Amino acid sequence: MKATRKITLVVLAVLLLAVGVCFAGCGKDEGTLVVGTNAAFEPFEFKDTNSPSGYGGIDMEMAQLIADELGLKLKIEDMEFTTLLGAMASGKCDIVIAGMSIKPERLENADFSTPYYKANQMIVVKADSTIASSADLKDKKVGVQSGTTGADSADALAADTANYGTLTVEKYRKGADAIMALKSGNIDAVVIDEEVAKKFIQNNDGLKDAGTLDTNEEYCIAVKKGDTEMLDKINGVLDKIMNDGRLDAIIEKYIPAE
Ligand code: GLN
Repeated sequence: MKATRKITLVVLAVLLLAVGVCFAGCGKDEGTLVVGTNAAFEPFEFKDTNSPSGYGGIDMEMAQLIADELGLKLKIEDMEFTTLLGAMASGKCDIVIAGMSIKPERLENADFSTPYYKANQMIVVKADSTIASSADLKDKKVGVQSGTTGADSADALAADTANYGTLTVEKYRKGADAIMALKSGNIDAVVIDEEVAKKFIQNNDGLKDAGTLDTNEEYCIAVKKGDTEMLDKINGVLDKIMNDGRLDAIIEKYIPAE
């Protein structure tokens, strides 16, 4: 064999090896969709040891569908709700699916997909409470999860002193902490997203609802600000699964029509 041919073969072999290593290693990150969530928001996201991913709920099943449609593996990053958009901006996750309502302040830090679910706030009280509607929250102590639209709604009521007197808002790190405070009598009511409120009422003794605050919110998937490529991909899949009934089927599984 001539020396030049030998060199060509060696170069080829090295190139092939490099390509092989790249397929094994480099593909890993690009092949995964990292979804940020806060898995304390049943029926949208919660820890579920029976599920292969370790998480259950509408958003988590939708996340799996999106990953499948995009030919990617799914990885869930569970974190505090208030840290989600910052974490995405700093690259800890690619998108956020967390029952997150679109609102102007959030649009400054992220882009939002087509809405996939409509929601209102619900008032949760103890079963023996005389509070029957938002009007009865006058002078009361209302608990919320800080950094949420439920907190915004309660703050808006508190600012309306003509109708709500000395209504005060207590902020908790988690919805479940607000519910605990309600059960132990530290507060008079909790304002939280309707379907999540219903789950808390279902899963805890001695609670009932006292009606809704019709905030007409829209849950959207958040993507990095300016990442139009990702936004287009997500909207493409949402469009598909909203039209072929797959999203409705997931919602119906967790929120059966009454
Ligand atoms: N929908 C509410 C919001 O966007 C609550 C979301 C949540 O706590 N996961 O603020």
